[in-house]
Amino acid sequence: MSVLISTPMADSVLETDCYVVIGNPIGHSKSPDIHARFAADTAQNIDYRHLLAPLNGFAEAVQEFIQQGGKGANVTVPFKLEAYALATTLTPRAEAAGAVNTLSFANGQIHGDNTDGIGLVTDIVRNAGFEIAGKRVLLLGAGGAARGVLLPLMQANPAQLVLANRTVTNAQALVQQFSQKFPNEGEIVVSSFTDVASINDQFDLIINATSASLQADVPTVAASIFGPQTLAYDMMYGKQPTVFMQFASAQGAMVRDGLGMLVEQAAEAFFVWRGVRPQTDATFSALRAQL
Ligand code: NDP
Repeated sequence: MSVLISTPMADSVLETDCYVVIGNPIGHSKSPDIHARFAADTAQNIDYRHLLAPLNGFAEAVQEFIQQGGKGANVTVPFKLEAYALATTLTPRAEAAGAVNTLSFANGQIHGDNTDGIGLVTDIVRNAGFEIAGKRVLLLGAGGAARGVLLPLMQANPAQLVLANRTVTNAQALVQQFSQKFPNEGEIVVSSFTDVASINDQFDLIINATSASLQADVPTVAASIFGPQTLAYDMMYGKQPTVFMQFASAQGAMVRDGLGMLVEQAAEAFFVWRGVRPQTDATFSALRAQL
């Protein structure tokens, strides 16, 4: 979509590239605010809006937006799998995730990418200053969020990655699929919540990619696996520390929520579309203040 915007300057017209975040529901999404801040920071002239797609009408909504000249879209719940299926080309990280959160439209193609995993790794390594290389990492959960971060996490070279889930067969299936697609990325150890303590006394990094915090639940791992050197990261975020963060803090661990991951996945999408990388600190602080 190209929107012609009249400016106060006589005869001056700007042609604006248009982007959307597509979901259902979608009104709550912070993405338009985040991308408006990135655009201002990088002096990029873009228009970014919410797009509510009917639950059974995702592909049609995307095609209509393409017809109107749309340049790209972020995709959120519940359409990330449909976006994966709709894409005509996929990046390796989207292939690994089996889900797409960033679409780009060019030359008649629909390019699918997934920036969630790199967003997580960037937030941990750069923003939190916590090196993943050489560390013992425990990833809790085997849903879409866990799937999306496996490849970038393995590429960050941890000493060990253990994947634990409430339903162990879901974790086994996820690791099996991943290993078939990426046989050279190293071994991922599968565990139940209760067995992780027998793999390592403590972990250096424990990432909660379950949706348990939404129900004020904490995955039933032993408290002893958290120590003062542990960073406990909850992908969920909110005004208050999540119950997982509270549990980890009580064991002396460092804690961080997923707001930085949200901002960094958006920054990566912005880079994919615009070829420029926005600063994220000010946007992160502004969003934190709004929670
Ligand atoms: P899914 O529904 O795909 O997966 C849910 C996962 O949580 C499954 O592994 C499930 O286990 C587990 N689970 C659910 N309830 C419980 C519970 N009570 N105790 C233990 N485990 C439980 O969700 P997603 O993977 O899409 O999302 C997970 C979380 O990540 C959400 O909180 C979401 O908000 C967050 N997220 C944050 C992002 C960010 O940018 N900060 C980006 C993406 C996600 P089982 O297999 O046994 O059902």
